[in-house]
Amino acid sequence: MNIVEIYKLFPTHNHCIDHLEKIRWENKPTCPYCQSQSITPRPKEKRYQCNSCNTSFRVTVGTIFHQTHLPLQKWFLAICLVLNAKKGVSARQLSRDLKVNKDTAWRMGMKIRQAMSEREQKELLTGLVEMDETYIGGKPRKGSGPHKRGRGTQKIPVVGMVEREGSIKAEVVKNRKLDSKSLSSLVRRNIDTKNATLFTDEFKGYLGIKKFMLHQVVDHTVWYVSGDAHTNTIESFWALLKRGIVGQYHKVSLRHLARYIDEFSYRWNHRKDENLFGLTLQKSLGV
Ligand SMILES: [Zn+2]
Repeated sequence: MNIVEIYKLFPTHNHCIDHLEKIRWENKPTCPYCQSQSITPRPKEKRYQCNSCNTSFRVTVGTIFHQTHLPLQKWFLAICLVLNAKKGVSARQLSRDLKVNKDTAWRMGMKIRQAMSEREQKELLTGLVEMDETYIGGKPRKGSGPHKRGRGTQKIPVVGMVEREGSIKAEVVKNRKLDSKSLSSLVRRNIDTKNATLFTDEFKGYLGIKKFMLHQVVDHTVWYVSGDAHTNTIESFWALLKRGIVGQYHKVSLRHLARYIDEFSYRWNHRKDENLFGLTLQKSLGV
């Protein structure tokens, strides 16, 4: 879906509302507070009155669009722009494209990233899996003193695991510890260890892994790739993530880094999905 198609399919705010109602309720409006379907429509305001608990509501209650003052068309366009931007869209760019102020654009971006999160997705990775760690350079938050160098800077470790030709799972290592205990526990949480072969570099944090699964260390001192033993997939994901973060989100803080990683992982995992816009709308509604 591109922005021209969005304009055609959803020419007005009300078209967007109708579409969301169809996805969320399959045209049977349900009270989000008491689940009653005994409802009186108030079509002029696009609201419903619940006859059971006497509350009134719109389709956007409890979703990322809740209490927005913007026409939903701008939200639909924002989602489309974020999904189609391989390297992400900055708040500044969104603000220009949608004619909203920069703070609004920033909040929209964060809400959309929230919908893109798949951390609840528990499916384990199988087959040939590559794992690698990288550091993303954060900047000190306001008032935290001069920028320190070297070990003192806020470089944030991020670990990623990716199935060849498949999905990625990447996360910020919150306590910043990349020891073998935390790496092994990441592996167990995300990989089907009985049905996978893991490829990593020679970093010593990965040493304990071969005790519980097939693990092959890739020798980066040789320039050629020998068979399956490489970590090129995860490295191209890091390249994309870093280009995006450096290019679009100059001021990514530790607090928000996880959201950006979710955004990049989501685009990666759904790169072949024909109806990604539809899926993302569903996720935006929490259905
Ligand atoms: Zn109710």
